[in-house]
Amino acid sequence: MTRATDWTARKRAGGVYCSSACGNGCKRSAYDLAKSRSALLAKRLNKHCPGQAPWKPRVWEDLGWFYEAVSAGGRVTVHPPHFLNDTYWVSVLRPDQFISISKKPEVAVRSALAEARRHVEDLMAQLSLEGH
Ligand SMILES: [Zn+2]
Repeated sequence: MTRATDWTARKRAGGVYCSSACGNGCKRSAYDLAKSRSALLAKRLNKHCPGQAPWKPRVWEDLGWFYEAVSAGGRVTVHPPHFLNDTYWVSVLRPDQFISISKKPEVAVRSALAEARRHVEDLMAQLSLEGH
């Protein structure tokens, strides 16, 4: 019998807020910080990228608490500067993946979407040539 991995975070002694699947001893304060930062990021994107609104905050645990903002359709995600110094990075999955980085999340979104648009235009041009 296979048991599903339990990713439900639970409050434990010493300010720990962690799931049994993670087991890292993550702190409640880190969860609260990720929650508030994800809400701020989504709010910022909703203000500066109104064409793509509403962005929603998302928090998850995987040997620590992480966060992102997710587009309404769920295919565009904006990630904070965890690994890339002070730059945000954006992932677009449609149907290929596009990634862009910037110190401003709204700039990273615009750049990723412009690259996706160029890709679609190239694809349309190729299809047009193949149609003749
Ligand atoms: Zn944990």
